[in-house]
Amino acid sequence: PCSFSPARAADTQKCIRAGGKHNDLEDVGLDTYHHTFFEMLGNWSFGDYFKKEAIEWSWELITKVWKFPKERMFATVYRPDKSQGDPSEADEEAYEFWKIIFEREGLDPEQHIVFGNKKDNFWMMGETGPCGPCSELHMDLTPDADSRGKLVNMDDPRCIEIWNLVFIQLNATADGSFGPLPARHVDTGMGFERVTAIIQGSKNFTDFSSIISNYHTDIFQPLFDALEKASGFKYQGTVPKPGSSGETSQEKTDIAFRVIADHIRTLSFSIADGIEPGNTDRNYVLRRILRRAVRYGRTLDLHDTFFYKLAEVVCDSMGDIFPEIRNRIDRIREVLKTEEESFNKTLDRGIELFGEEKERCLAAGTKRLTGDFTFKLYDTYGFPKDLTQLMARETGFEVDLDGFERLMEQQRERARSSRKTQEIKVEDIGSFAATQFVGFESVSSSGSVLEVIKDANDYYGVILDVSPFYAEMGGQVGDSGKLIVGGEEFRILNTRKIGETFIHDLDGQPSFSVEDTVEAKVDNMRRKAIERHHTVTHLLHWALHEVIGDSVKQKGSYVGPDKLTFDFNHSGVSTSDLQDIQRLVNERILENTTISWQTVPYADVRNNPDLMQIFGEKYGEEVRVIQIGGEPGKLNGYSMELCGGTHTSATGEIGGFRILSESAVAAGIRRIEAVCGMQAYEVGCQETELIKTLSHRIHCPTTELDKKVVALVEQHKALEKNIKTLQKSQAESIAKHLIQQVAESEKPGVICSNLGEIE
Ligand code: ATP
Ligand code: MG
Repeated sequence: PCSFSPARAADTQKCIRAGGKHNDLEDVGLDTYHHTFFEMLGNWSFGDYFKKEAIEWSWELITKVWKFPKERMFATVYRPDKSQGDPSEADEEAYEFWKIIFEREGLDPEQHIVFGNKKDNFWMMGETGPCGPCSELHMDLTPDADSRGKLVNMDDPRCIEIWNLVFIQLNATADGSFGPLPARHVDTGMGFERVTAIIQGSKNFTDFSSIISNYHTDIFQPLFDALEKASGFKYQGTVPKPGSSGETSQEKTDIAFRVIADHIRTLSFSIADGIEPGNTDRNYVLRRILRRAVRYGRTLDLHDTFFYKLAEVVCDSMGDIFPEIRNRIDRIREVLKTEEESFNKTLDRGIELFGEEKERCLAAGTKRLTGDFTFKLYDTYGFPKDLTQLMARETGFEVDLDGFERLMEQQRERARSSRKTQEIKVEDIGSFAATQFVGFESVSSSGSVLEVIKDANDYYGVILDVSPFYAEMGGQVGDSGKLIVGGEEFRILNTRKIGETFIHDLDGQPSFSVEDTVEAKVDNMRRKAIERHHTVTHLLHWALHEVIGDSVKQKGSYVGPDKLTFDFNHSGVSTSDLQDIQRLVNERILENTTISWQTVPYADVRNNPDLMQIFGEKYGEEVRVIQIGGEPGKLNGYSMELCGGTHTSATGEIGGFRILSESAVAAGIRRIEAVCGMQAYEVGCQETELIKTLSHRIHCPTTELDKKVVALVEQHKALEKNIKTLQKSQAESIAKHLIQQVAESEKPGVICSNLGEIE
C-alpha cells in the first residue's frame, strides 16, 4: 500500500532478508528482532524535501507523536574512515541538524550523536551509481541510564536500530570518486515490528525491565496462540545467551516458536507474490526456509502437517492490508501442504540417522560430520546443508563443508552428462513445472535450464524456470530472441505454451544443458511492434463498438509485429464507417492515454458489462484487466478487456493506425486487417511512392493526377468509339466487294473468305 504525490511518498515495503546481500536467516529465532520477513515503513522524497525535514520529522514522529522517551534516543551520522583512504566526505549537515535538535531538547549532542563508518552509515546499491550517507535512530532499552549510548551499532539486543534515513545525494563513479547528483532524494526505512515491540513491550514506555521482543506483540500473538493450541507447548519468551542455540528445553521451545512464526510469514508472502519453493535459486531459499520451519516443528512434537495451516492465521491478521494473501490463500495452503508432506516423509528417518551418526562420531572421538554423511542427508533425505549445519550446531558439532561441496559438484557433473538432451514428446510437456513469466516487467532475465528437449525431427526446445519470453496466446504471437550462456548465443525462434510450461524453440542443437544458468533476452524491437499492434487491437475493438454498436463480438484475432487482423460478427462495414473507426482510433492515439492493468478475481468481473471478454473462453480464477483511460485500479477506463497479452504503456506509442482492408471470412464474419506504428508509416510511404511513379508515367504533377486520369479514361472511351465506327464502315465495304465477286463468278451459291479476327 502506498500513497503518492508526484515527489513524495509514504509506504510499507514487504522485505525478505534470507539470502544475498541482506541475509538474517541465521539470526532468526535466536534473537528477538531480526526476521526473514518484515515490514519496512518508509517515507520518500524524489528531489523534494531533504535532510533537514527528514531528520526533523523523524524526531517529531518518534518523540512527539509516539512519545518514545527522548533520552533513550541516539542518532548515528556518517564519518568515513579516512585511514582507509575513503574519498567520501563526513555528513556535516546531518550532524548539524541533529545537534540543533538535541540541544533544543536539553540533551548532550556529544553523547547522543554517534559516528558510523561506511559499513553502518553509507548506502550503496552497487559499485557505481546513486548513493549517499545515512543517519539512523537507535533506541537504548537498558534500564540503567549510565551505560546508555555505549551499545549503538554493537549488535546488542538492548540497543536496536529502529529507523534508517538514507540521503541519496552522491554518484559513485568507476574510478572510485564521488560526484553530486542532479537532484537529492530521501529514502527511509523503519522496522514496523521493532517499533511495535517497543511500544507494546514497554507498556507504553513505563517498563523496560524485561526483554523487549518483536514477538511479544499482537503481530505474532495470533500465530503463537495457534501454535500453542496445535502443540500443547507454551511460549515463554526466553532467549538463549549470545552465541548459543538454546540450552534449556524452554529456550529450545521458544526458539522453535519464533522460527515457525517468522517463517510462515515469509513463505505466505512469497507464494502470494508468485515465488514458490523449488530446486534452484530463490525458490530453493524458500524450500530451505520451509524445511527449517518443519524441522523446528519436531521440537514441539509436531509430526503431522501443521505448518500450512498457519497460513490461515497470517491471512486473518494481514489479509486486509495485503489483499494478495487473501486472494491467493488457497494456492499458499496447497503449495505448503504438498511441500510439507513430501519433506515429512523423510524427515523423521533423517533425524534418526543424524542421531546415530552423532553417536558414531562421539565414539570415534570426533565432533565433525563428514561431507559424505551430510551429502547423503541432502541427496536421499532432502536435508538442505544449512539444516544439517543447524542441527550440528545445536549439539556442538561441525560439518565438513568442503567435502559436501565436492560431492555436490560431482553430482552436478553427472546430471549434466546424463541429461544433456532429453527425447521428450511435446505433448508430454504439459506435466512439467509451470514457467514463471516475468515478461510483463522485463525483456531479459536470468533463468536456469530445466529441460532441453529434442524430437525425432531434430527439433530442439528448451524449458526454463523463469522466462521473459511471451508464449503465443490469445492471438498474440510468441516472442523470439536469444539465450546467452557463457558468452555463447543461441537463437530462440518462437515461444509456445503447453499447459503452464513455456517451450522456447531453438534454432539448432544447443551446447548447454540442464541446470545451466542462461541469460534470456527477448528481441525487444519485435516485441514493441507486437505490443503496439496488441494495444491498437483493443482500440479498434472499442471503436467498432462506438461506430457499429455493442452487437459487435470478437471472433478471433492475430497480433503480430507486422500487422493485426480482427474478426467479428457483422454483415459488412461501409466505407464511411471504416473511415470513422480509423479516425477514432487515431484520435485516441494522439491523446496518449496511459494504459494500466490489474489482476482481479474472475468472479468479481464476470458479469461486468463494461469489460470485453470473449464468449466461451476459459478464464482462470484470476484475470488481468487491461484498461485504457480512467484511473488505474478503478475499472473506469473507456476500454477494458480481459487479456493476458503485453501492451504499450500509453496509446501514443502506437504512433498511427491504418486499416488495410475489410472483407468476409465466413458467413456473417468480417475481418479487418490493419497496421500501426512503423508498419503504418511504411504502408504510407509505399503508397506515396506508387503515386509518384504513376504521375511520372503519365507526365503530370501528383496534384493533377486525378483530373488527368479522368481525362485519360474519357479519351480512351472516345477512341474506342471511333474504332468501332471505322470497323463498321470497313466491314461494309468488304461485304460489298465480296458480293461483287460472287456476281462476277461462274459458280453461284457460296462466298468463302478469311476476314481476320473481329473484336
Ligand atoms: P540491523 O543492523 O539491526 O540488522 P540494518 O542495518 O540491517 O539493521 P536497514 O538495512 O537499515 O537495517 O533497514 C532499515 C530498518 O529495517 C532498520 O532500522 C530496522 O528497523 C528494520 N530491519 C532491518 N532488518 C530487519 C530484520 N531482519 N527484521 C526486522 N526488522 C529489520
Ligand atoms: Mg541487518
